[in-house]
Amino acid sequence: MKKELIGLSRDELVQEMITLGEKSFRAKQLWQWIYNKGKTNFQEMTTLAKPFREKLDSLYTITHPSIVTEQNSIDGTRKWLMEFTDGKQVECVYIPESDRGAVCISTQVGCAQGCKFCHTGTQRMMRNLTAGEIIGQFMSARDSYHEWPTPTDETRYLSNIVVMGMGEPLCNFENLKTALRIAMDGDGLAISKRRITVSTSGVANHIPELADLGVKLAISLHAPNDEIRNQIMPVNRKFPLKVLINACKEYQKRCERRQFITMEYVLLKDVNDQPKHAEELMKLVDGLEVKFNLIPFHHWEGAPFEASGHNAIHRFSKILENNWFAAPIRRSRGEDIMAACGQLKSAKGTDTKKD
Ligand code: SAH
Ligand code: SF4
Repeated sequence: MKKELIGLSRDELVQEMITLGEKSFRAKQLWQWIYNKGKTNFQEMTTLAKPFREKLDSLYTITHPSIVTEQNSIDGTRKWLMEFTDGKQVECVYIPESDRGAVCISTQVGCAQGCKFCHTGTQRMMRNLTAGEIIGQFMSARDSYHEWPTPTDETRYLSNIVVMGMGEPLCNFENLKTALRIAMDGDGLAISKRRITVSTSGVANHIPELADLGVKLAISLHAPNDEIRNQIMPVNRKFPLKVLINACKEYQKRCERRQFITMEYVLLKDVNDQPKHAEELMKLVDGLEVKFNLIPFHHWEGAPFEASGHNAIHRFSKILENNWFAAPIRRSRGEDIMAACGQLKSAKGTDTKKD
């Protein structure tokens, strides 16, 4: 079977060329064809000598996940169902803003964390994605927008990456790191680390390492105390809030420059949306530099929660803002095509858990 090149680190690609008896600068040329120009066909790599192209063709493949379906929301959000070579599928979403746009990518097929409010959490965990499959989603998104070769930072639509799709990124950490290093490489996709955000449900032991990678951190906090968090997020039994908050402090200490952490907070009616919860929340994050992101709960069939009402959400936001915290209410994007937070679920290759 031919070997897949997407997902190899830069060092691994150099090694691969040396093993073939080629000069190491060939790796740089190849890297640029793959990640700057987006080519998947060796024959189009015209700066490489023909015999070398033939050799590459006989040994390797370059695969972007195939796009099974594409849906466009009235608000400009685009959602793809993407399929990998073994038939497993994930959803990937592009969310445009006025001056930029973020591609929301997945790290696992399904998710083992089982957060009670999350649609993905009802799916069985099937497998981790490889580094190539993680970064491949961004490349297929670029195919869809014809954004090759890599445009300058100012002109590109697909300027940011948010690792907020299906799965818990820090439970697939090695592959995630390789994928993000590929994303940041200036000879290829050239996404600045400042434009990459990783969201975790709170797998605390890996959080400080995200500072070494230089990327932004978002925490799916969703509760002001352990009692509530244990009920809605099983991960909290392993990494309770004290451990999680300490990991966040360590992350901020290790960051090169001042780096706010985004605390995501989905508002669930009568569960975590009362004024006393807002008060408790502010005490919890004492000593951290954070901004909140309040997320209206997105309903899905069979969900055991209801969304908080408009007034409760605004009241919650006001309490935080009166205490100088940024606490915007996240505008739902792509809800008409089930592309909003927590609504992602792939149709095929993932069974629903029965509990
Ligand atoms: N697994 C990672 C990243 C993906 S989830 C994590 O949990 O952080 C992206 C965000 O959507 C998380 O903050 C998640 O908690 C939130 N979310 C999940 N289900 C939701 C729902 N039904 N409504 C609104 N937000 C939801
Ligand atoms: Fe997994 Fe994140 Fe959903 Fe929790 S919120 S089940 S960690 S995808």
